[in-house]
Amino acid sequence: MQLTKQTLNQRTDQIYDVLVVGGGAAGLSAGIYLQRYLLSTLIIDKGKARSHWMQELHNYLGLPPDTPGRDVLKQGKAHYLSLDGDYLNAYVEEVMDEGETFAVRVRIGRTNPTYAVFRSRYLIAASGIIDHLPKLADMQNVFDYAGHNLHVCLICDGYEMRDQRVGVFGSHESSLEVAFSLSWFTPHITLFTNGEFEVGAELRDRLTSNGFTLIEQPIKQFLGENHQMTGVELADGSIVKLDAGLVSMGSKYHAGYLKNIDLEYQGGNLITDKMNRTSHPRIFAVGDLKVGMNQVVIAAADGALAATQIWRDIRRAEGTRRSPISVNAA
Ligand SMILES: Cc1cc2nc3c(=O)[nH]c(=O)nc-3n(C[C@H](O)[C@H](O)[C@H](O)COP(=O)(O)OP(=O)(O)OC[C@H]3O[C@@H](n4cnc5c(N)ncnc54)[C@H](O)[C@@H]3O)c2cc1C
Repeated sequence: MQLTKQTLNQRTDQIYDVLVVGGGAAGLSAGIYLQRYLLSTLIIDKGKARSHWMQELHNYLGLPPDTPGRDVLKQGKAHYLSLDGDYLNAYVEEVMDEGETFAVRVRIGRTNPTYAVFRSRYLIAASGIIDHLPKLADMQNVFDYAGHNLHVCLICDGYEMRDQRVGVFGSHESSLEVAFSLSWFTPHITLFTNGEFEVGAELRDRLTSNGFTLIEQPIKQFLGENHQMTGVELADGSIVKLDAGLVSMGSKYHAGYLKNIDLEYQGGNLITDKMNRTSHPRIFAVGDLKVGMNQVVIAAADGALAATQIWRDIRRAEGTRRSPISVNAA
């Protein structure tokens, strides 16, 4: 059931088997498996998933390579709801470990928000990451192209950039190293620092000896139309023509709600075992937020693994057959 401000009180008294933070590819996949294991599930999602920003899913078996991420999300959510899973559009602020259960504090709505606390026995962190983008005076100019031919993922879009003139937009020296992997697909690479950081002599030598161009002055704006970036105008008014861009500026990790729980991280990513259990026995992490490859196929598989391990845990603990009627019963 799609919960709303009006209906959420029907659910705040119950203890869900699993609360999933994030309704992207990983969270929805987990939700579908959990409901099919007759476990009660609540997915809470604040929207604007990375999957939503993905204009075309190029490499997923069985789907046309121009499938928009938003179609995958729409179909996945409909599938999950058809299995009687609960779904709430809201922001998870904090998770408190109460021993047997988690108390999950949620903010619903931006203007005049409502607050609620939901409880669950297990938690799946499926809240993903979001890519940092070049900071220009007019950010709309960046959003016009990001996710179209201003790419953020070499694994996803290296193939799209083959033999093209590609601009790489970095945020610190080591972020420019991606150029060496990109050169598998194209030799025509220009690197931009946007005037924000220095490039040391050693890297500068390696870049130039590979035939890459390094531009260190600030960027005024991206050029192009209809979401197709055709180049960059620099602060001095000169123009660099490009066919595509690759942003390599790192990401923000959506794990702030877990701050009160002691978990193991590698950088911003949660460390898990092979079934996606974190260092906490009742918290699982799936998709881009965990250590691994940031791909839809991996996110979907992660959800399946976490859901299956939680089912095993609960089944072994309860040892009896569950009636479908108990799933998300109001
Ligand atoms: C432009 C672009 C192109 C891509 N192209 C491809 C491709 O061709 N092939 C491919 O396999 N992959 C591609 N990817 C990568 C793919 O999109 C990700 O690997 C995948 O979406 C990860 O899924 P996820 O469920 O882990 O995270 P997400 O899809 O980001 O979902 C996480 C959800 O959790 C929500 N959330 C975060 N914090 C909270 C909170 N506190 N409370 C509630 N909700 C929260 C977020 O808003 C979001 O809706 C691309 C990514 C981008 C950005």
